[in-house]
Amino acid sequence: MHYISTRGAAPVLTFGEAMMTGLARDGGLYVPQSVPVMVKAEIAALAGQSYEEIAFRVMRPFLGDTFGDDEFRGLIAAAYAGFGHAARAPLVQMGPNHFLLELFHGPTLAFKDFAMQLIGQMMQAALAKTGERITIVGATSGDTGSAAMEAFRGLANVDLFILYPHGRVSDVQRRQMTTPSESNVHALAMDGDFDDCQARVKDMFNDFAFRDGVRLAGVNSINWARVLAQVVYYFSSAVSLGAPHRAVSFTVPTGNFGDIFAGYIARQMGLPIEKLVIATNQNDILDRALKSGAYTTDGVKPSISPSMDIQVSSNFERALFDAYGRDGAAVAQLMAELKAGGFAISQGALQMLRSTFASGRCAEDETINTIRHSFATTGEVLCPHSAVGVKVAEENLGPTPMITLATAHPAKFPDAVEQAMGQRPALPLRMADLFDRPERVTRVANDLAALQSIVRERTGR
Ligand SMILES: *Cc1c(COP(=O)(O)O)cnc(C)c1O
Repeated sequence: MHYISTRGAAPVLTFGEAMMTGLARDGGLYVPQSVPVMVKAEIAALAGQSYEEIAFRVMRPFLGDTFGDDEFRGLIAAAYAGFGHAARAPLVQMGPNHFLLELFHGPTLAFKDFAMQLIGQMMQAALAKTGERITIVGATSGDTGSAAMEAFRGLANVDLFILYPHGRVSDVQRRQMTTPSESNVHALAMDGDFDDCQARVKDMFNDFAFRDGVRLAGVNSINWARVLAQVVYYFSSAVSLGAPHRAVSFTVPTGNFGDIFAGYIARQMGLPIEKLVIATNQNDILDRALKSGAYTTDGVKPSISPSMDIQVSSNFERALFDAYGRDGAAVAQLMAELKAGGFAISQGALQMLRSTFASGRCAEDETINTIRHSFATTGEVLCPHSAVGVKVAEENLGPTPMITLATAHPAKFPDAVEQAMGQRPALPLRMADLFDRPERVTRVANDLAALQSIVRERTGR
């Protein structure tokens, strides 16, 4: 199994190499050279299996010889052992033909735990074989950083630094990043906003002497290994509702297009998915693009579903690669045009995208109303991101069962929930002491040299 870049001009890599590389050297994203297909009988045989067993069977064909079978089973078991629900990704019913896939039972209460926990285990296992040590630096607006802290804390061959904008993440998100006590993980509160944090991380990657010196690696959402881990819950939920004998549709609250792209891979593998519905908040570049064919950027408007506040969805490049017949040069050209403000999607590509994806947008007041209405009619308390999904799903209901992905626990975004319901949601019991644990964080200036010296000093390189 080999991986190629969406821009067609980077080395072909194995799974293990693609995981460690992240962004391809030509600026593209790695995708499988061909997607393995599961035949109907193989999909049917997933019914009734544990989440871990389904994870093994769905992901194994993508791995080549990076891990042995028993080794990979062990990594999966370790990744999901810390989840607060035996089903890992349980389904609850919202209406006659509408289901909610709860992806917030992981250690940091957001779906990012599914991929981050597994990539932590896989990176550690791969590094342990060579004795290498790497340094991971990432920027976060909240959920990614906390998921990475939980996933990498205590791992022997990794040092992790997370930059978050000082004063601009929720109390729960901050505490999830500052309370892990292991000495290999470091929370850095930087003066500035999320874009500043991201810019400094990019600067570190572009300083090749520094990058090679500390063995820098990334785990942002374009990493193929993260996408792959997210394919699994499309299978586990669809099979629970009768796949492969019955088709299902999914609605996915979307930001960087990583989560919904995993659904696209599941569909290519043979899972009968009728429609994948993109749900956006007021940052609706994807909804506009699918409806009009014009992919044009517009400044970010901060919303009450902040994990979906994006200007450009980086993983959309992977869907464009297929829509343009896997022509890397054509994708490179589009991305160059995007830097100048946008591009028009060709008729052929648009037709291909519309045959798989539908889309909808949810305004701020609709998000609040959906939280209130869902609680009144089902008792389910939604986080604002999941509410965006439920609202858009309701506009797309039909004879095919609809599964909406619930991407975070409501207690992670208590202000929006309180605004809707007049009451703050409680943290799950297993983390009720989050506000009593000691915090450990370093306040840093928005200054590359200062950041680099902290990383060098703490890693001893
Ligand atoms: C990251 C995130 C999203 C968006 O997921 P993408 O893969 O970037 O599309 C949605 N909801 C929550 C709670 C998130 O943390």
